[in-house]
Amino acid sequence: MENNFKSLQTIYTYYLKHPQVSFDSRKDVANTIFFALKGACCDGNIFASQALAKGAAYAVIDNPRYYQEDERYLLVNDTLETLQQLAKLHRSQLNIPIIAITGSNGKTTTKELIYAVLSQRYNCYATSGNFNNHIGVPISLLSIKKSTEMAVIEMGANHIGEIAQLCEIVQPTHGLITNISHAHLEGFGGINGVIKGKSELYTYLKQHGGVPFINSADSVLLNVANGFVNPIYYPQKGDYYYCELKEANPYLVYTSEQSTTVTTQLIGKHHFHNVAAALCIGKYFGIEPNMVNTAIQAYNPSNNRTQLIKKGTNSILLDAYNANPASVQAALESFSFLKSMYKVLILADMNELGEESLAFHQAIIEKTAQQDYDAILLHGPVMEKACLYNPKAIYFKQISNLQEYLSNHKFSNTAFLLKGSRSYHLESLLNFI
Ligand code: ATP
Ligand code: MG
Repeated sequence: MENNFKSLQTIYTYYLKHPQVSFDSRKDVANTIFFALKGACCDGNIFASQALAKGAAYAVIDNPRYYQEDERYLLVNDTLETLQQLAKLHRSQLNIPIIAITGSNGKTTTKELIYAVLSQRYNCYATSGNFNNHIGVPISLLSIKKSTEMAVIEMGANHIGEIAQLCEIVQPTHGLITNISHAHLEGFGGINGVIKGKSELYTYLKQHGGVPFINSADSVLLNVANGFVNPIYYPQKGDYYYCELKEANPYLVYTSEQSTTVTTQLIGKHHFHNVAAALCIGKYFGIEPNMVNTAIQAYNPSNNRTQLIKKGTNSILLDAYNANPASVQAALESFSFLKSMYKVLILADMNELGEESLAFHQAIIEKTAQQDYDAILLHGPVMEKACLYNPKAIYFKQISNLQEYLSNHKFSNTAFLLKGSRSYHLESLLNFI
């Protein structure tokens, strides 16, 4: 067995000439370094020989059963760990600022806004899509080219210690926690666990002289941010960057530090904090204020994140990327600003809320009872129980029944809100409205 260190050096030498890694032997793997990772259903070790046959330069495996006497096989203790070490080694060779982003809500949106702003002046890299976990983060780092001048890396977590581990790999010079709220409570063991887990980014930055961008209007973040020598605060008066929320009716309008009023394509006032972070970071890295505003104005969210879709006389606020109590609350508030003759609420479960899950669902459904919605349609096992708290709510066990219901009702002049956790794929309802 080749020792791990030697394997890493071999891989990195090759990677510098052919910077491409692969994981799926069904795809084009020619000249890549194939990493045999273990997925939920398959063990990549099984496909190492296939990847090599299809032209992969190396196959990094961690199961001796699949090893063959061939120098292209690199047998290591742990393939995932080797991928992470490779990413860490690559990052350490890049002498560039990296802004790490974590938080309960708005990481991807904020990352994209910051990327749009920084790209006005720099050759910037940002995490692609939502590649924010122990596999996605190394892949993101390995996508950074030598010519890249700065990078924005999203880091997600669902348990304590995860952000600390990702920080060791990413070695961020700057960091942002968007907010801390009730998300992934199961893995974190409660809100205190979430606070502890997310603030691992601050801890890393403190230990390494990194610079945090801190939302001074967020008391939870302020509490965990003490002890920094060089914090950059926004968006309140007296902070490094000051801006104001003008309105969100439903599109977010803000006033920048230069008193310019900008209308964005973002729906909901919760996005103000995401925008403010990008404005602040734009100033910090010396981007012209008008270029910052142009970048933010041009940003149009995709991937089911608070998108407003028109279908005939109906409008649909599609916010089905994920859901937790804070983001559902934000979505309901945004929905209240949509003007329409009729309003239909479609909600699915918020996953991973642990013991308090029903209480969180109940609180939301009780609130819906105080509003004058024309219909409330619910889906998901916890919503089945929460449904009792609003007599007007209708529960659908199967998504197909909900689709059928929507097809059978000829809706017009109606606004819909679609909000639920990813696994419920509420976006599949679009075709039935
Ligand atoms: P994930 O944990 O899935 O990676 P994320 O933190 O990257 O999520 P986004 O994908 O940017 O977050 O946004 C997901 C949803 O969260 C949006 O559709 C919106 O409803 C909500 N959201 C975005 N920003 C905020 C915010 N600042 N506060 C509350 N909710 C927000
Ligand atoms: Mg994300």
